[in-house]
Amino acid sequence: MKDKYSRRDFLKTGVGLSAAAMLTGGKSLLKAEGNEGKMRVVSSGNGLRATEKAMELLRQKKDPLDAVIAGVNIVEEDPNDRSVGYGGLPNEEGVVELDSSVMHGPTHNGGAVASLRNIKNPSKVAKLVMERTDHVLLVGKGALKFAKSHGFKEEDLLTERSRETWLRRKEGLSERDFWFPPQPEVEGGFASFFEYHGTINCCAIDSMGNLAGVTTTSGFFFKIPGRVGDSPIIGAGLYVDNDIGAAGSTGRGEANILNCGSFQVVNFMGMGNSPEEACLKALEQIANTSKRLPHLLNDDGRPQFGLNFYAINKKGEYGGATMWSGSRYAVHDGKENTRKPCAYLFERKRR
Ligand code: ASP
Repeated sequence: MKDKYSRRDFLKTGVGLSAAAMLTGGKSLLKAEGNEGKMRVVSSGNGLRATEKAMELLRQKKDPLDAVIAGVNIVEEDPNDRSVGYGGLPNEEGVVELDSSVMHGPTHNGGAVASLRNIKNPSKVAKLVMERTDHVLLVGKGALKFAKSHGFKEEDLLTERSRETWLRRKEGLSERDFWFPPQPEVEGGFASFFEYHGTINCCAIDSMGNLAGVTTTSGFFFKIPGRVGDSPIIGAGLYVDNDIGAAGSTGRGEANILNCGSFQVVNFMGMGNSPEEACLKALEQIANTSKRLPHLLNDDGRPQFGLNFYAINKKGEYGGATMWSGSRYAVHDGKENTRKPCAYLFERKRR
């Protein structure tokens, strides 16, 4: 196993550049200059349809936030993506609870919802929180009431497939309850604590150099009801600074919240790092702080969870990085819509 990014380099540049950031407020190093033709959309690996849609809207000069939200709505509404919206995997009681945040660069405003039940498009509700309230984050019943008062219809978000997955997990939990174990012919095993999660993040820069982003998820499968991940937390699952860039994340939300990951990525870009370097630095930081929580570490003392960052800067440069090799991100660079491999901190051992 090889560390792609050396800790020494990280400390060296990290410390030096932190000082630079304090002097510049982390903001002055990237300038908006002639972005026409530099429209970009970056998303998590499940976001190829989102990047396509968002680029289509950017070409029509739509606001970048509307563009990325329309992009992720496709995935929120897709029953086959079980990490987001309709068909998302439920909490331990079999209820789908959704989290989402949006951030709009030009106004430096944001909105978010957490633990929202029965509404397919939490990202649209998050945008309304931003536009129609003086708040940033609404949760649970309050978020649902707010959505309904804006005309959103309640729907059952649990698909048959997700319900079956949930039931198998429940039946397989312990030998000391009253549930019989799952029938052997049922395909698929039981997800471990670190499996069966996912999210979509999508960030864009338009032809004027304006940035925006959205992150939306059903969070961890079998989470404790009420658990909120990083996706609706501005600074963790998403952050946009219109002078610097935008970043978002997927993966273990708890680690990300504890390190303000997306904020860090944007901050590192503001210090002059490329989007890919910035994502790697944020991951390095998280890998280091996670060493203090032994249950998160593998036998080599490395984080045994997955975490990914995706970023675009003011110049239209973009990148993605992951804790463990093997992930990809989606990008539309104005010409081509494709998936690219994420840079990585640690190389995954072949099994
Ligand atoms: N970040 C999401 C959360 O913690 C889950 C994921 O992306 O896999 O809720």
